Amino acid sequence: MSATLPVARPAVGETGELPVLRERGPREVFCGLTGIVWLHRKIQDAFFLVVGSRTCAHLLQSAAGVMIFAEPRFATAILQDRDLAGMADCNDELDRLVRRLLERRPDVKLLFLVGSCPSEVIKLDLSKAAERLSVAHAGRVRVLAYSASGIETTFTQGEDACLRALVPELPGLGADERSLLVAGALPEIVEDQLARLFAGLGIAPVNFLPPRRAGALPPVGPGTRVLLAQPFLNETARALEARGAELVEAPYPFGAEGTHAWLGAAARAWGVADERLETVTAAPRERARRAVARARARLEGRRISFLPDSQLEIPLARFLAEECGMQLVEVGVPHLDRRLMAHELPRLPESVRLSEGQHVDRQLDRLRADRPDLTVCGLGLANPLEAEGLRTKWSIELVFSPVHGFEQAGDLAELFARPLERFERLAV
Ligand code: SF4
Repeated sequence: MSATLPVARPAVGETGELPVLRERGPREVFCGLTGIVWLHRKIQDAFFLVVGSRTCAHLLQSAAGVMIFAEPRFATAILQDRDLAGMADCNDELDRLVRRLLERRPDVKLLFLVGSCPSEVIKLDLSKAAERLSVAHAGRVRVLAYSASGIETTFTQGEDACLRALVPELPGLGADERSLLVAGALPEIVEDQLARLFAGLGIAPVNFLPPRRAGALPPVGPGTRVLLAQPFLNETARALEARGAELVEAPYPFGAEGTHAWLGAAARAWGVADERLETVTAAPRERARRAVARARARLEGRRISFLPDSQLEIPLARFLAEECGMQLVEVGVPHLDRRLMAHELPRLPESVRLSEGQHVDRQLDRLRADRPDLTVCGLGLANPLEAEGLRTKWSIELVFSPVHGFEQAGDLAELFARPLERFERLAV
């Protein structure tokens, strides 16, 4: 397949850094409310009260697919059009609603007021409301606020904003203590696997953010080493650093090699000997390599492009190129944080076209000219692209599915192999 690129790829800079094509223009992304879908499952006594519009309610309802007889742990308070003079009533209404909610739901110990983008919501100061409600319900529930508005550039910023809101609530770590804090919502099964590996390495105590329960907020202080499990937690990382914690820079735990390098960075920060790292990781790393090899046969040599959507693009592209032999055509990211990507960028092949930001029309033009075998993109773009004969993978699925760590490496590769295989079966 030949590729005609309407935009020339900038030359590699003198510093050896990959050049970046910067895009600003129309965007096509989900908003941060999407994060509630996985966060409410993760923090089991938290409730997410979105202050928003009917659109927000519909988005949540359809994304989370809640059954009507279930007691959900999220809801939308719908604000009708109001002028500023009506905002006092709005605050009263919010207080009433929260009171009723807490009476009905004694299981809720942590309440998030989640801001959205309608102008009426922007006029409402949710941080102040959270402070007021925290005082009113002190000892019963903690109330925090964050924004998940569609004005942000990527849907994963919802999780970043939520965890960022939790940071001031974390208890302090004793002056002589140290701890490892793994940041980023992970499925419990993955968390348990990683916890066993850390125990094997002799790294303890290890805490996870977010915790499973509001009462188990992990401590933070100058003795805390933060290891990011998700690459989109820029604000959370900065807030933890402001509390004295130190970031352990590492690649992200995708694939056999990414997971090994991620654990290796933690081991070095903890002073664990290399031999112990190799002994503890040898068997699961080998299992992961074998599992990836099964999908590699179907992925090797295939061309893939990422449209900017989740902030997972660079680590996933590295995994697909390094471990699955895929050819990277364009890797687009909503926002490039060079510090959080410091151990990922050098592992990308020089031939990749790296772009930051979004101008959806120009990116689609390039995609049509490139015609990669697989395109990773948001839900809204996938169907039209499929209709044009391009194979797609929904980027959101990569946030919903267990994909981190050694034991999930094979499943991660399969997620990319499956759409190609399905197409080939249909084409026969
Ligand atoms: S927060 Fe904004 S973008 Fe998201 S559903 Fe509500 S109105 Fe739409």
